Amino acid sequence: MTIVEKDAVASVHYTGTLPESGEVFDSSEGRDPLLFLVGHKQMIPGFEEELMGAKKGERRTFTLEPERAYGEKIPEAIQQIPTEMFGDITPEPGMTLMSDVGPFNVVSVEGDTVTVDFNHKLAGKTLEFSVEVVDVRAATGEELDHGHAHGPGGVNH
Ligand code: ZN
Repeated sequence: MTIVEKDAVASVHYTGTLPESGEVFDSSEGRDPLLFLVGHKQMIPGFEEELMGAKKGERRTFTLEPERAYGEKIPEAIQQIPTEMFGDITPEPGMTLMSDVGPFNVVSVEGDTVTVDFNHKLAGKTLEFSVEVVDVRAATGEELDHGHAHGPGGVNH
């Protein structure tokens, strides 16, 4: 029998909630279940830890402190950038934009200076997950070589 363990491919339905506000920040409802290769840093650390040993059909609910989720906010990741760097885009607070080094959020705009935050938007937050293990199988050799799961809900290529 296959359980969630290192080098297994888990297929899960999940809902992630912010316990403080009750806001759902992510969910697989209405989509294919999420497929991931266990133990290869595809997921945040606590998500995998809490699912270890789970069988097909099992449901688990757990709460992750920031250190086991997206980490604490890093002050250095908040930076000030001149407006001219945005080109055709008019930055506004709350916008999420893409850069060469990843996505960032616009915090504020004052004159020609834009304050941006490269922290993950869930950094510093405690997260609650409700997860159902839809399926578990052994990974293929190709998946282990690539370090991710293949198929619907995983990586297709
Ligand atoms: Zn691949």
